[in-house]
Order: sequence, then structure tokens, then C-alpha cells
Amino acid sequence: MGMGFGILFSLLLLSTSWGSSMTTIKAGGVDHPISNAELFVRNWIKPFGNMFINALKLIAVPLILGSLIKGVSDLKDISKLSKMGIRTILTYLATTIIAVSIGLLIVNIVQPGKTITQETRDNLIENYSGEADKRISSAAEQKESGPLRALEDLIPDNIFSAASDNGNMLQVIVFAIFFGVGLILIPIDKSGPVKAFFDGFNEVILKLIDLIMLVAPIGVFALMAGLVVESPSQDLFVALLWYAISVVIGLLLMILIYILLVWVFTKRSPKFFINGISPAQLLAFSTSSSAATLPVTMERVEEHLGVNEEVTSFVLPIGATINMDGTSLYQAVAAIFIAQAFGMDLDLYAQLGIIVTATLASIGSAAVPGAGMVMLVIVLAQAGIPEAGLALIFAIDRPLDMLRTTVNVTGDAAVSMLIAKSVGKLGDPKVKDWDDNYQKE
Ligand code: ASP
Repeated sequence: MGMGFGILFSLLLLSTSWGSSMTTIKAGGVDHPISNAELFVRNWIKPFGNMFINALKLIAVPLILGSLIKGVSDLKDISKLSKMGIRTILTYLATTIIAVSIGLLIVNIVQPGKTITQETRDNLIENYSGEADKRISSAAEQKESGPLRALEDLIPDNIFSAASDNGNMLQVIVFAIFFGVGLILIPIDKSGPVKAFFDGFNEVILKLIDLIMLVAPIGVFALMAGLVVESPSQDLFVALLWYAISVVIGLLLMILIYILLVWVFTKRSPKFFINGISPAQLLAFSTSSSAATLPVTMERVEEHLGVNEEVTSFVLPIGATINMDGTSLYQAVAAIFIAQAFGMDLDLYAQLGIIVTATLASIGSAAVPGAGMVMLVIVLAQAGIPEAGLALIFAIDRPLDMLRTTVNVTGDAAVSMLIAKSVGKLGDPKVKDWDDNYQKE
């Protein structure tokens, strides 16, 4: 919706004679002729877009701290269920890494950001040049260092500088995990209040994301108006379309992989799996929230897919929080797309870095609408890609959110079947939807 408004409004401005008459502004000591329309958008509309981006960046660090500390400290029960717990975490991690790798593969093949013409790219870089320069130079600095530098950089020497503007998001993630582990290891009477604090803190942050998302249409409108007026070229929209196609292809591939995994390891047919899980998929699609879908996912997996309650009650809630394959895939594609749009070539080393950050960022993403996009800020910051490039992808984020949430939920269901099979807790479904022989031997 925001995009529609943005384009309409901008085209309207551009087509009026007022919009096309020229004014000059001073930038960097040089006079630049710009149209009245552009001046108006720059002065009165684009700032709202910038405010929206700032709000997202503002919430990113508290979000990582809140959700990861809470997530890790919730894992305390794992020690009790160690066999199943470790298998669950490892399988979730494996599917997430597969998802990010598929995302990277597709975006490097399709190269959606490269369809942008050099002129539009120059425009983009000019509009966001300050930030782009800063990021590109910090990325270049990183390259000059030795082979273990990336590992060395994982440990922050100061949590405040890690969390500050030009900081290192991976270090914040490492700190949050470290803190969560510490919390697990101390006695409950000491850890209880701290855990309760972070529970509440996390709730507040989720509420703030809710509030920010309320103004998302205005933010998206402002950003799109800025983009259209400053780089009024069709190729941006073509690129955006290719970007969306890349994400969708990746997500479809993930669904195929789940079906295959379930088929090979549990001998349950694709029809059986999809039929069993489809109501949860539909709900995920319409709510864009794995958390809101969780009760239905649990019911479907238990009643219709034959997974024992002991497994679902442990594997699915953890999955809804940490296993977001659709989100991680989307983050990888989006990050590379933005880098391509800005003309940055990310080498293998940088792309490996994206595998690590997108995996961690998806683990840290809350299971609510739009969380994946907020955490994308972290992936971008870490790879030295200008965060302002988020403006490019905002407009179509909601439909992609619906699709990636569907994949997130399907992934959780598939993994719960694999885990159930491996611990001998996969049986006949309580509710049989058809007479088909669902079990392929
Ligand atoms: N909406 C997604 C979910 O709840 C998270 C995301 O924004 O990617 O699973």
C-alpha cells in the first residue's frame, strides 16, 4: 500500500508543472539544480522515512539483547532432555544454514540488484553516499587483517562500543548468548529475578516493534516517495521484482527440502505431510507470526502428523523462537540484493560472514510480523552494507513476511517429525484425513 501511494504521489508531483520547475540547492559547496517536487519530497516527506529507519535501528540492539538472553536462558530444560534437546538444536541449526546457503546461491545466480542501471546506482550512492562510504571503508579495513581476525572480532572488549552506531552486531549477539549461558549456570534464586527482568524487557521491546509497525505504511510511503523522486527510474522496480522472485524461489525450494526430508527419514508421503500441516501454513501466511500460529502448529503436528506430545511440547515452542529458515533465507537474499544495488561486490569471505550473521539474526528474530526485517539491520551492519538500502525492500516486505513465516512454521513441523522418528515417538495420526496409504515403505 505504501509503495502504491509513494509512486502515485511522486508521479503526480513529477507530472505537474510545479513539480518540473527547477530550484538550486547547495550540496558540498556546489550548486545542484533540482525540481520543486524533489525539494518538497526531500524536505517534507523523506525525513519521515528516515525516522522510520532510525526507529528500526534503535530497536535492533535491545531486541537482540532481550530475545537472545531470554531464548538462551529458556534452554535450561535442555539438560533434562539432553538427547532430544541436542538433536533438536543441531537439526534446527542445520536447516537454517541450508536455508541461508540456498538464499545466497539463488541471489548470486539471479543477481537481482545488478539489473539496476549505473545511473540509478550512482543516484542511490549519491543519496546515501555518506553512509555508504563509511560502511565500505570499514569493510575494507576488515579485509586488511589476518586470517583469525574474524574470530578475534567476535569477542567485544566493550559492550557499549559494540552496541553503538558503528559497532559490531555479532559482538552484541555473542555477548547476549554469553550472558544467557551465565544465567543458566547460576542458582535459580539468583537467576530468577534477572530472568524475569529480561522476560518483561523482551515483552516491552515486542510491543515497541508492534507500535513501529503501526506507522510502517507511512514510513514506507515516505521512503518510496524519496526513492522515486530521487531516482525516477523503472529499473528499480524491475530489480525489486527480481528480488521478490529470488526470495520466493528460495522459499519454495525450502518447502521441497522439508517434504523430501520427511519422506526420506520418516517415510511419510508428501501429500500426508502437506495435508497435515496446511491449516497451520495458512494461519502463518495470514498472521505473519510463527508465535501466533504455534497453538495450531502443535495441534496439527500432534493430531494429524502423529508426533507424540512429549516431542511437540518441547520441539515446537523452541522452533517457533529460534528456527526461522524462511527468515534467514530472506535476510541473505535481501542483504546481497542491497549490496548489489549499491554496486558492492561481496567476496566469499563476506558471504560466509552473512551465513553466520543471518543464522544468528534469524535465531534472534522474534516470531512476530516484521521482526526479520528489523534483524536484517544487523546483517547489513555486520557486512558493511548501507542500512539505508532497506528503503529499497520495505515496500514489498509484508507479502514476503507472510511467505517466510509459512516456511518458518513448515520447517518447525518437519523437524519435529524427524526428531520424533529418531526418538521413536512418531506414530499413527489420531485424526486420519483420508484412507490413502500415507506411509511409503
Ligand atoms: N514474521 C516472521 C515469523 O513470525 C518473522 C520474520 O519477520 O521473518 O516467523
